[in-house]
Amino acid sequence: MALSSITDADAGPDDHRPDTAAVHAGREDLTASGVHVPPIDLSTTYPLPSVVAGGEAYDHMATGRPPRPHDPLVYQRLWNPTVARFELALARLEGFDDAVAFATGMAALTATLLAAVTSGRRHVVAVRPLYGGTDHVLATGLLGTEVTWAKATGDGPDSVAAAIRPDTALVVVETPANPSLDLVDLRALVAAAGDVPVLVDNTFATPILQRPKAFGATLVLHSATKFLGGHGDAMGGVVAATPAWAERLRQIRAVTGGLLHPMAAYQLHRGLQTLPVRVRAAQQSAADLAVWLTAHPAVAAVRYPGLKECDPLGLVGHQMAGPGSLLSFELRGGYPAAETVTRRVRLITHAVSLGGVDSLIEHPAGLTHRPVDAAARPNEAMLRLSVGLEDVEDLRSDLDQALA
Ligand code: PLP
Repeated sequence: MALSSITDADAGPDDHRPDTAAVHAGREDLTASGVHVPPIDLSTTYPLPSVVAGGEAYDHMATGRPPRPHDPLVYQRLWNPTVARFELALARLEGFDDAVAFATGMAALTATLLAAVTSGRRHVVAVRPLYGGTDHVLATGLLGTEVTWAKATGDGPDSVAAAIRPDTALVVVETPANPSLDLVDLRALVAAAGDVPVLVDNTFATPILQRPKAFGATLVLHSATKFLGGHGDAMGGVVAATPAWAERLRQIRAVTGGLLHPMAAYQLHRGLQTLPVRVRAAQQSAADLAVWLTAHPAVAAVRYPGLKECDPLGLVGHQMAGPGSLLSFELRGGYPAAETVTRRVRLITHAVSLGGVDSLIEHPAGLTHRPVDAAARPNEAMLRLSVGLEDVEDLRSDLDQALA
């Protein structure tokens, strides 16, 4: 099992390796500015030198373009320097030229769907399983999209190719998928999508373990609420994209107003600095726990990308530098047993969300994936565990007493 992270061969456009980029990206100008940490600009509005200069700057930024050096910033809905620092840093880590940040991961997805359908095409091919909120927004067509579902495993790429239509605007995929941890071969998926742009939700892997752009993804989305922030105290979403897509996303952000607050941007940007060490440490514990759970008499099945049977295509070590720190497992005792574990854990918190410094456990069918159609909803016996940075022996004892 490869327990590494992406390294030298994947150095960012600034030629720094990912661990260095995580610490320094978006901070390059600080020393010259005489400060050590990024200033937080909380301005909602900005002084205007004249009506004409303000109006010209407005016209420029309202179409999604970054401000020019002489432009007043006009209004926070158009541009915020603290948010822009986080966007730059995340773009570097994902290997893109640009990124656009939003109030939440769902706001980021909403903007991406709106950006995709403005071309007059409204059909979306979505690879199940997906996060319950993503599944819900696509299944309901609330944003004016029409969905065809494709499969993650088995003949997944063929099911994507078969679903593509002349009016397909976007292919949406998560790998590893929430909550099944299914892995999708991105290169095969992108080939199956042809010239349709592919959006990869990279929340579970993070750019430390997987850079979807290298496999042909057009857009990479994160619920920044999870690993990027890493401490469960800031919500955010971000889409790494080409400059042309980023312009459309910023234009949509300016009119729909799903802004990332500058305070949260500061916290998420700071979170990136420890992302590589957090991801690697939690991954080591998750790998140990996955093997241990496999042998536990109360557990019927464990789903973790580091287990051979969960990675039939050998994507870990190739597409992913490591299996990550999320796992799910099914209880032999079905729903009653799963529900009992959520009540019995003492150190691990029974809560939705994931990717933070502390371990969280939840019941996907009853919570995060509640809005998903019954036929596609996760098994009632399944729990999802997000492994944090606690000592693995303490996590093992807590699970052991909860499973007893
Ligand atoms: N994508 C994935 C994989 C998620 O797990 C989540 C939330 O759990 C989201 C997107 C939505 O993100 P947010 O809760 O920040 O809106």
